[in-house]
Amino acid sequence: MNGNDEAPAPPRPLPAARPDRPEDRLALHGGAPVRHTPWPTYDKGAVFVHPEDEEAACRAVRSHLYFRYDHRPQHETECGRFEDELCRFFGTRHALAVSSGTAALALAIMAARVPPGSLVACPGFTFVATPSAIVMAGCQPFLVEVDEDLRMDLDDLRRRWQPGIRAILVVHMRGFAADAEALAAFAAEMGVPLIEDAVPALGAELRGRKLGTFGAAGAFSTQSDKALNCGEGGFLVTDDTELFARAVALSGAYEGRLRRHFPDAEPPLTGLDLPLLSLRMDEIRAALLRAEMARLPQRLRLFHRNYDRVAAALADVPGIAIRRPVAPGAYLGEAFVFRVPGGDAGWFARALCREGIDARNIGADDDLNVRAFWNWRFAYDTDDVDAIRAMLPRTAGYLREAVDVPLSSNLTPDDCDDLVRAVRKVAAARDAAPAGPPSDGPAGPVVAPAGAAEPVGR
Ligand SMILES: *Cc1c(COP(=O)(O)O)cnc(C)c1O
Repeated sequence: MNGNDEAPAPPRPLPAARPDRPEDRLALHGGAPVRHTPWPTYDKGAVFVHPEDEEAACRAVRSHLYFRYDHRPQHETECGRFEDELCRFFGTRHALAVSSGTAALALAIMAARVPPGSLVACPGFTFVATPSAIVMAGCQPFLVEVDEDLRMDLDDLRRRWQPGIRAILVVHMRGFAADAEALAAFAAEMGVPLIEDAVPALGAELRGRKLGTFGAAGAFSTQSDKALNCGEGGFLVTDDTELFARAVALSGAYEGRLRRHFPDAEPPLTGLDLPLLSLRMDEIRAALLRAEMARLPQRLRLFHRNYDRVAAALADVPGIAIRRPVAPGAYLGEAFVFRVPGGDAGWFARALCREGIDARNIGADDDLNVRAFWNWRFAYDTDDVDAIRAMLPRTAGYLREAVDVPLSSNLTPDDCDDLVRAVRKVAAARDAAPAGPPSDGPAGPVVAPAGAAEPVGR
């Protein structure tokens, strides 16, 4: 399958790998790896931060004004100006900068008036922050299957629907848009809010509309490996003025500070009937983020360029299923995720790591990957992993087959070509192997960068 919306091209056989040729021999089997340098990720310092961004943060540090609600009017604060930029970028009426993506999600659920104790539907493939935010909002995650492209499955949500579900939390996981239009229509039909965990898809669009603007509210993170990076942080966007006012009050705008977010009108509520959760953004981080907004379009282009280069070059590889977008271009490009249907994705990911690529089999048994729903033990009455997996059998199967490679916006075309070469090499070696499970072979020299098999990104 290819990375576009077109019909998949019939797979052509790869030129047969010849284990006697040194360049075909897997690093896993003692051959030379494709790469000798670390695969770029944020935690190795490969971050998209420019000198102008550093300078903006330093200016905020030197100002000694770190609290967003000091004596200055909203439009003179870094937080206020960042929120104005966000409204322009997303085309929404309101934006609120907060302390994390998880905080933005929990605030969105609470501010949408989802009663505590309610079920909130979310997909079985997402970062653990999604079900955690549901718990933080006093609600209970209600899990839904994903389809073969790892997107929340609306048909399954329909089948499982029950009256206790009071909100739908869709996730654009690994930057790939879920079918937000269809889910928004379904949420309206059921009379519940749709909230978007658009954290992994900041700036990505579905049919010309930014992800995060299809539901009642969209939540984003500015933690280091997301498309805007200030270490820790987040924000939400919404057109719903009441929802916005409640989120502002809950986040910690006490004693009239709520009013600063409504320069042209009275706020629709006082906030006195809401607890104050202190989930605010500060001025130093907001300064860094506002500067980074100027280069966000450039960064988004790089994500797309890298993703498209890799997906196009691997579209003809038999035996791997590259995720298909729900519409042309409806992805960020921050990760390259494919399945190895019916194959050993754990072996495939290990072989890629030995070639110098950070790859992870999402559903691996020997890896407590917190993107796999059976590892969210806090969410169940049981700790019987088989029983938990049986709740979403299709998602469990797809995650077992899934391989995840982070694509930093700092990848060069040469880095992308290394990934392409490594995937083709591993796929060809697997196809050349005699029937039976592929062997790990003799342990070759460890050439992959230290930590390559460690959890990467979020
Ligand atoms: C990173 C992430 C979050 C949480 O963001 P934080 O800022 O780390 O709290 C939520 N959802 C998804 C899908 C994420 O990847």
